[in-house]
Amino acid sequence: MEKFTGSFTQQESIPESGIAAAVDILRSGRLHRYNTAGDEIAQTPMLEEEFAAFTGARYCLALASGGYALATALRALQVCQGAPVLTNAFTLAPVPGAIASMGARPVFIETTPDLTIDFGHLEVMARATGARVLMLSHMRGHICDMDRLMALCDGLGVRVVEDCAHTMGASWNGVPSGRHGVIGCYSTQTYKHINSGEGGLLVTDDAGLAARAILLSGSYMLYSRHRAAPPPEVFQALRLDVPNVSGRMDNLRAAILRPQIALLEERAERWNTLYRTLETGLAQTNGLRLIPRPEAERYVASSFQFTLPGWEPERVAALIARCAARGVELKWFGAPDPVAFTSRYEHWRYAMPTPLPQTDAVLAGLIDMRLPLTFTPEDAAMIARIIRAEVAAVAQGEVGPAAALLMGD
Ligand SMILES: *Cc1c(COP(=O)(O)O)cnc(C)c1O
Repeated sequence: MEKFTGSFTQQESIPESGIAAAVDILRSGRLHRYNTAGDEIAQTPMLEEEFAAFTGARYCLALASGGYALATALRALQVCQGAPVLTNAFTLAPVPGAIASMGARPVFIETTPDLTIDFGHLEVMARATGARVLMLSHMRGHICDMDRLMALCDGLGVRVVEDCAHTMGASWNGVPSGRHGVIGCYSTQTYKHINSGEGGLLVTDDAGLAARAILLSGSYMLYSRHRAAPPPEVFQALRLDVPNVSGRMDNLRAAILRPQIALLEERAERWNTLYRTLETGLAQTNGLRLIPRPEAERYVASSFQFTLPGWEPERVAALIARCAARGVELKWFGAPDPVAFTSRYEHWRYAMPTPLPQTDAVLAGLIDMRLPLTFTPEDAAMIARIIRAEVAAVAQGEVGPAAALLMGD
């Protein structure tokens, strides 16, 4: 019986040029973005310029984390305490967390079987709550029909902030992810598409929002050292009205990230090769549904999802346990209790979520798997064979004792 021995959490090392730049920064001691010698241009503003160019955005700001970027976007939009903010029910904890950090109220929107936001429910809830902002999470890299979404939100007077933690380098109809909404936010945390341990990026074309975000991030009166930023007069009008909520990125992380932007294209190709290998290996597996990917979507598949429609929890738990025994780490969004990174909307009690039956049905059978670039296509093919065999075994009633353990009884 085949057993997989690779690690689902092992990322690639930092490119040598990034390591060299990081060592230079350490030697100089000038880690703070505003600590420059003479007319030196620091690593952080250079990263911002390069990422702005990569996305085609006018302005870019580097921050301490992706979650902080999301909260900064809401602050820049002046979302008030108690205000409703629409967001996907299927997302990661930092998204409702960013909304809650403002004292605002997350309003969760239903999930389609293709893992994207439900437009019908979005419209109903936008009208019912009068929300002015949608924090749209491209969760696990699945992009909804962005042309339809923007038309809908424009019609409703709802501004869109895009959470692109899983879509850096992706696009819809040729428009980069993060460039449809008024603000796009990205994470550079270790499990995302470029890795600085922790970090976030925010892009926008709106000069006022960019200036607010820069002041909010803790720029003191040093905003003129930013390069992918609006001119000083925009700051002049705002600088005494916007609080400093420190959350800057430092030069060390920027130095590590800069060479990775150039690698994104090649990384996307490699991720998508792994993804397609899994897709092919799992095609027409009885009881297992693959997520269709629209023609207009250019994805960067750093993870893989499938659903087990109609499976009872015991059978799903059995499959997870059997795959784990063969070295294949699957995450289950329907697990009764949150495990590691995987929690779902009903676990976010502070947001007082009301039940969403459609999302519940999707998440009950949703399986998720990381695809680190340290995997080869042969690894992906073997993982597919293992999942396929175990799905067949569980379908034939081989549940086994491990499932009871996972179910917590
Ligand atoms: C990782 C992640 C974030 C936030 O990232 P951090 O950098 O860890 O704060 C936001 N949204 C989603 C969907 C994520 O996966």
